[in-house]
Amino acid sequence: MRLLVVGGGITGLAAAWEAVRGGPDRAPAEVLLVEAADRFGGKVQTETTDGLLIEHGPDSFVSYRPAALKLADELGLSGDVIGTSGTRVVHLRSRGRLRPLPSGMGMVLPNRIGPFVTTGILSPADKLRAGLDLVLPRRLTPGEDVAIGAFLRARLGPGIVRRFADPMVGGIYGASVDELSLDAVLPSLRADEVAHRSLMLAAIAQGRKARAAGRGPGSPFRTLRGGLGSLVEALVAQLAGAGADLRLGSRVASIRPAGAGAEAVFADGTVEPVDAVVLAGGVKSSAALLAEPAPGAAAALAEVPLATSTVVTLAYPAAAFATPVTSHGWLEADPAPISGITVSSAKWSGRAQRDTVLIRAFVPERLGPIASAGDGELLAAVTRHVGEVLGATSEPGLVRIARWPAMMPKYTVGHLDRVAAVEAGLAALPGWRLAGSALRGVGLPDCVADGRRQAGLALDAVAAPAARVEA
Ligand SMILES: Cc1cc2nc3c(=O)[nH]c(=O)nc-3n(C[C@H](O)[C@H](O)[C@H](O)COP(=O)(O)OP(=O)(O)OC[C@H]3O[C@@H](n4cnc5c(N)ncnc54)[C@H](O)[C@@H]3O)c2cc1C
Repeated sequence: MRLLVVGGGITGLAAAWEAVRGGPDRAPAEVLLVEAADRFGGKVQTETTDGLLIEHGPDSFVSYRPAALKLADELGLSGDVIGTSGTRVVHLRSRGRLRPLPSGMGMVLPNRIGPFVTTGILSPADKLRAGLDLVLPRRLTPGEDVAIGAFLRARLGPGIVRRFADPMVGGIYGASVDELSLDAVLPSLRADEVAHRSLMLAAIAQGRKARAAGRGPGSPFRTLRGGLGSLVEALVAQLAGAGADLRLGSRVASIRPAGAGAEAVFADGTVEPVDAVVLAGGVKSSAALLAEPAPGAAAALAEVPLATSTVVTLAYPAAAFATPVTSHGWLEADPAPISGITVSSAKWSGRAQRDTVLIRAFVPERLGPIASAGDGELLAAVTRHVGEVLGATSEPGLVRIARWPAMMPKYTVGHLDRVAAVEAGLAALPGWRLAGSALRGVGLPDCVADGRRQAGLALDAVAAPAARVEA
């Protein structure tokens, strides 16, 4: 059994890992993994320079979705997994200044009434309007997807959307809550309305439950001591050790069904026969590769919009700040040329020497023209703003700009219909599966879980067609 994996990002590598390991009901498979770039990792890109550890793409993953932790464990990296350090205080810049996020803050609301009443993030009018949620009837129609922003605005008012939901949710998905799908991104909100009617009552009930279970407000974020690149390195080394054929700088130009399997055609014209296929090259790559063999799936996939985002890294001398920068960062609810920053040197150990403050600032396309400005203009706007908010007395000594153009899938309203259409379009090619952030979750744990699951499904489909037909 030979599996072709297109793409050597975290999804493709996880798919390959699943295949070479096999399972209780599946023999280990041969793997041919093809990566067009000259390095593995895709969006995972770690740079070490001048005593700094810089993440140009993702910098961490959440622990409550266990797939990334499990993978690290299987690779023997459990001892290298680290949690956040220092103060663990995150701020929101709202109503003119930095204010700490209320304790027990979820994606939309805190899970206790006290911090909600006392926070200065919201104005008194915002709080009064949000309180209406306690008496409003249910708003959602079963089976009808809506934008998160529209739903929250109707229940909790515009203040919560602008000052809590958009910075929190938009910060993760790189898109505005006014375009993101409730059912694909925050289905728990629908479940909350069904069960409790009021989202505030639902949040309070969840807070009580968490406290009764002894779950504190600790940070769910984890990363690796050596950066996320070390996860990629370990995967690549162990895949190679297990005999996987890993090719860098090689692009799959097309794939065509051939007998019970498929043939991969490379950019240089060579052809390789395989039994099963996992497409993990992203929305555009997969839509192009499916255009001929599965046009319905390709068309549905191509409808997933892609967001552009930029990460600007700034390393300041610690002496540039009158008081030590101990906050883990902030999200912006006020107008700004960034959506927020992470203070990597405060949030994680081993990211910078003591005399350096390492910051990564985010500039998503939803901020408008600044997101497409040239490097000089972008850098000037970001350093001016960050420097002003933190009171920097000097310029950063090192800067980096990492641009991610049209690379973040946006789960907009109707996303789950698109997922169903892609699945339906792929039904005629049972050994072909699509994996990664395009459809079922953009976070690293989602990508790892999906890569592994889709590799298993692709291999099972071609290994036991009779059983599948009977089922
Ligand atoms: C700036 C930024 C910050 C993020 N922060 C976080 C975070 O902190 N935590 C988190 O959990 N997630 C985060 N994410 C999301 C997460 O990084 C991605 O969803 C995930 O890395 C996607 O992995 P992937 O393997 O599916 O795709 P990619 O990493 O995009 O990899 C796809 C690979 O396929 C290759 N490829 C494409 N087509 C072909 C072809 N035809 N032939 C050969 N190779 C091909 C590409 O060269 C690429 O290397 C962030 C994303 C970005 C952009």
